[in-house]
Amino acid sequence: AAESSDVLLEGLNPQQVAAVEHSGSPLLIVAGAGSGKTTVLTRRIAYALRSGRAHPGQVLAITFTNKAAKEMVERITELVGPAARGMWISTFHSACVRILRREAKALGMKSNFTIYDAQDSLRLITQCVREANLDSKKFTPRSLQHRISGLKNDLVTAEDYANRAQESNPSEQALAEVYRRYSDRLRLANAFDFDDLIMETVHLLGAFEDIAANYRARFKHILVDEYQDTNPAQYQLIRTLAGADLPEPTAELTVVGDADQSIYAFRGATVRNIVEFEEDFPQARVILLEQNYRSTQNILSAANAVISHNDDRKDKRLWTDSGAGEPVTGWVAESEQAEAQFVVDTIDELIDREDLTYGDFAVFYRTNAQSRAVEDALVRSGMPYKVVGGTRFYERKEIKDALAYLRVIANPDDDVNLRRILNVPKRSIGDRTEALVGALAERERISFNAALDRAEEAPGLSSRSLGPISRFRTLVADLRSTAEGAPVSRILESVLEQTGYLAELHASTDPQDESRVDNLAELVAVAEDFGRANPNGTLDEFLEQVSLSSDADQIPDPEVGEVTLMTLHTAKGLEFPVVFLTGLEDGTFPHQRSLSSSTELAEERRLAYVGLTRARRKLYLSRAETRHTWGQPSYNPPSRFLGEIPDSLVDWANTGSLTAPAAERAFAPARSTARSGGAGGAGGFPNRIRPNREVVHVDAGDRVSHDSFGLGTVIEVSGAGDKTIATVDFGSAGTKRLLMRYAPVEKL
Ligand code: ATP
Ligand code: MG
Repeated sequence: AAESSDVLLEGLNPQQVAAVEHSGSPLLIVAGAGSGKTTVLTRRIAYALRSGRAHPGQVLAITFTNKAAKEMVERITELVGPAARGMWISTFHSACVRILRREAKALGMKSNFTIYDAQDSLRLITQCVREANLDSKKFTPRSLQHRISGLKNDLVTAEDYANRAQESNPSEQALAEVYRRYSDRLRLANAFDFDDLIMETVHLLGAFEDIAANYRARFKHILVDEYQDTNPAQYQLIRTLAGADLPEPTAELTVVGDADQSIYAFRGATVRNIVEFEEDFPQARVILLEQNYRSTQNILSAANAVISHNDDRKDKRLWTDSGAGEPVTGWVAESEQAEAQFVVDTIDELIDREDLTYGDFAVFYRTNAQSRAVEDALVRSGMPYKVVGGTRFYERKEIKDALAYLRVIANPDDDVNLRRILNVPKRSIGDRTEALVGALAERERISFNAALDRAEEAPGLSSRSLGPISRFRTLVADLRSTAEGAPVSRILESVLEQTGYLAELHASTDPQDESRVDNLAELVAVAEDFGRANPNGTLDEFLEQVSLSSDADQIPDPEVGEVTLMTLHTAKGLEFPVVFLTGLEDGTFPHQRSLSSSTELAEERRLAYVGLTRARRKLYLSRAETRHTWGQPSYNPPSRFLGEIPDSLVDWANTGSLTAPAAERAFAPARSTARSGGAGGAGGFPNRIRPNREVVHVDAGDRVSHDSFGLGTVIEVSGAGDKTIATVDFGSAGTKRLLMRYAPVEKL
């Protein structure tokens, strides 16, 4: 009874209490969405601190995003006070950067190393492909980048890979060669790419027993949220830090996750880590949580129904005592514009009718490109909204240029960024000069910066080129001395002025350059914010924050009052009172790419499960009968995931073009049905598309007539029933794939 009055255990169910109180062996908390995994992890830390079982300095907690980390710190501070500050609560990447900054020397690196993002890394790989004289059409830098990333996630170094690549296999040889060069170049540039952050930390701890022992002595409590999305490198990192391979583990390890929410296989994550936890840690205690506190029963039942179609999973049934709630609402729109309008109209209506603000609404879609239509409708309505992700601010050219200067100031050896700004703005250092200096660097195995210092030794370089190089070196040296001890925003401003970058944009008449100036002003504002939040913050710290920021960190707080638009992947771990899951069409979601692979379909289904379970009170499912991709309208059948939700759970407020009168007419011959919508009908379609209730049955070889395309011959028929798709050759009108349920065709 004394226990239950404890504020840290207040309101928790018995399983949750057990998870908070457990001590003495590894702990695995497996549970479905919204069952309080993150809540329990947070309370567990607070409980261990308050009971004196842990000191803040002994806690290492890993979250999936920086934002989640920040929220966890705030929550724990609320519960136990500011003592919580000494904890390490961060993403895997941030924790590793922290370790690497301290221990860089042991790896032969300097602690001011740069972190290369995907774009930087691709640039460097492209250079490596060129230097290795490989055919970049056959061995595309992008695919090499993907494979190198995969190897790093599996802890395979360039050297390891060179040893195992088959001599007779040209593609393996090419990969080995590029990987080796890329690793060398990263090292010379004193840079790590994203995957290195984890892999190199694992190697560091493996290679230096004293360093590993240090961290093991420090971190006595290691906790990992979203464990189902860890990759092999992250798994090894946790094992090493927890001393799992020692006779006695050195830390109490707690991992929480849900195999049904594993959605990052494409980045090397493996559910194996959660599924086999009990084998890896035989003394582990496993606690299941089954009560969901987030959603209504209708929402949960819909989510349960969809995920139950995946094979090879442990069946678990989430339940809630919060009642059935409102039914899930389904909506079939004619087009993506109509779908977006439905979203906006619904938000408008709910805001009027219920106690909700814009910040309570989230709109999810499978891919970023789908946000366009929703944004257009939101702009027209004047509703406040925020698109999370998409073309990221930090990936814009002018922002990358400005940051490149800052990176070069912080780390002179940063090759990629130095070469990026060498002639930006133009200062007569041409491609040929760059190539000759690059060749010198390669020959001498020195950094590009060191080669610039010795430019006069570069064979073939004209003495005329030396002037601009020397002026550039003076410029960078000046900037570096300005930077000494100055706040980041001041450093940035002096870069923009002294380099002439801003002047060049101001002088331009290109309207795009005007918005570039605005974006740079925004970057200055970001730097000022950073200065306010971190009065003693250094340039290195600012750059690190920028490098490690991710889409999910831009999610607005609900109080800001903006409708949030994001991809399903970004929605992980979040919750909203009202959720719209849009684009539920086969080919959109599940994604076209996944349709032919059962493993990929299973992953898409988990993504659907994640999306459905974000909703607290009200869930809307929508699809568009036609959607424009690459400027072409495509007719996509309903998502198979819709078919997996029992009819009793979904209230179809609009069934698309098949309205009641149309349904009656549908018994008439298809041709007249198709016409009954009338030209220029609602939705702005010249030929309004009406589903044919009875699917016109055709076979290969049949002749058909189509309202718009004219006469054609059926080449192939696939699918059955509502999902029948016919490929028809319409001669000069081209070959079309038609969903027979909707196509205005008549068999001749
Ligand atoms: P996900 O799988 O989506 O990451 P989760 O399992 O981490 O979800 P939480 O986010 O921790 O779940 O909790 C979901 C919601 O339920 C939150 O709003 C949380 O505050 C609430 N919640 C958790 N446990 C309880 C409880 N015992 N009583 C009341 N509310 C709770
Ligand atoms: Mg969670």
